[in-house]
Amino acid sequence: MGWTLDQLRGYVRVSDSAMAVLEDLEAIGFGFKALDHIRFCPYPGTAAWHGVNEQSGYITVYLGCEAGAIAHELGHGFHECLRRDHRLPDRFGEDYAEAIRWFAEQRAGPSPWCQEFKARKRHDAILAACNYDWAALVERLKKGHYYPE
Ligand SMILES: [Zn+2]
Repeated sequence: MGWTLDQLRGYVRVSDSAMAVLEDLEAIGFGFKALDHIRFCPYPGTAAWHGVNEQSGYITVYLGCEAGAIAHELGHGFHECLRRDHRLPDRFGEDYAEAIRWFAEQRAGPSPWCQEFKARKRHDAILAACNYDWAALVERLKKGHYYPE
């Protein structure tokens, strides 16, 4: 029981991709929380984000966690900063987490998750609002359209 090197490589690959997405958002004025560390928990499950303070958080990764879940959890840190900086209610957290995962997966290369996600139509409010388009998401954020109407 544990993790294979391939799984660990997947986590690193998607994390790098998610960080590139988050750094692009930071460049237009939207901060995110840095990943302080990852805790590996040897029980079945996915992953969970834990905000530590205003600057960082950590992720608990359970056995069988998909690589893309790392990007999702980092997306929660982005949403925490967005809420804090723009005094927003606690809504659309899952939708932002999935949006960050979507763009991270797109950058990392085509993934079956993206196709499944579009078909599933769950927690897709942010992606639907920008029509799954990165430039459109950036435009919406720049205009202050943080949450879908
Ligand atoms: Zn989530």
